[in-house]
Amino acid sequence: METPEFTFELRVCQWAERNWPPSSDARSGGRVLVARQLGTKHRRWDTIVVETDARRLAARSRFGSARLDSDLLGVVRHAPAEWAYYRDALPDPGYPWRYVRETIHTAADRGILDARRRGNRIEIRRKWEYPAWVDRIIAIENKPDLDASAAESLTDQLQRDVALALADEVWVATRTTEETVEPALLERLPIETGILTVTTADREATGKRTDARVAWHPRSLDRSAVGTRILERGRDPSAARFEYAEPEWKATKRLEIAERAYERGWRSYVDSMRPDCRWFSLRSIGGDTLPWCGAKECSQPSADCSQNCPSFEPEPPNWRTRGWPLEGGPGAAVKRLLAEQRRRNRSETDRR
Ligand code: SF4
Repeated sequence: METPEFTFELRVCQWAERNWPPSSDARSGGRVLVARQLGTKHRRWDTIVVETDARRLAARSRFGSARLDSDLLGVVRHAPAEWAYYRDALPDPGYPWRYVRETIHTAADRGILDARRRGNRIEIRRKWEYPAWVDRIIAIENKPDLDASAAESLTDQLQRDVALALADEVWVATRTTEETVEPALLERLPIETGILTVTTADREATGKRTDARVAWHPRSLDRSAVGTRILERGRDPSAARFEYAEPEWKATKRLEIAERAYERGWRSYVDSMRPDCRWFSLRSIGGDTLPWCGAKECSQPSADCSQNCPSFEPEPPNWRTRGWPLEGGPGAAVKRLLAEQRRRNRSETDRR
């Protein structure tokens, strides 16, 4: 039976949160944050694993749970240790300074930067040094049913990922089958791409958890080298169009991706579903927590769980008054539960 990609993706995220990195030579003291559907304007990866360690993650946590976007990073990372006029302290942003002033006010309101006015000048001072908290970024493409045609369509995308080398490693995660992964299939994927075969239990209370095995080890990509962005390719290699990605651009993008992963984690999937539907719940299946639709009797894909779903029924109003007086009904409780798990995972990761 085919596994919906969304469900598979949630299982890979939960497995990675428990088990990454998959090799036995794991770094001691290493920690991970797992998120989904992140990347750049042109490319989103299914699963992102950010490798870090507890000490630097704790240093990052001083800046709050919300992400720092590129504007905030530009200010916070360059803020001086002593009071200074902001234009002297910060590099030229390449756009009008008035936008920088807005960002300074935002950072001060969030309590992550000191700012004061001296005459008609704004001075800034850092509260803490922004830590270099990101070690490696791992990109995983989830393809539960990897057959020859799926491998074919993945190959072009993976070759682009390898050429750009924005992530340190690129993997494909696929469902375990009775057979070993065919050598011919492996040959179609770029040799730099790792392959994980994932075994899932499809019923409750099997006593088995989702597990994964490395079928092919990836090569580390050079994140500090100039990357190649393939814009167009045809049958004739001489007609291909590409441009270079400078290491500075890559470093900035990596940090932005890591910041979004820090804020969202993988549990934010519930924000694009309808937990306020009377049929929505969470269920533990094979050790993984998955959304469950009581009307369809399955773990529903997020795309199906929307206002347009023909089986959607809002929570009965009395659900919101009996036992759920102030905080809304069970749907709101599901959102709170996942947000709390996300927060706890991040802070437990901080403490470990
Ligand atoms: S009935 Fe539709 S909207 Fe309701 S939980 Fe199921 S899939 Fe989601």
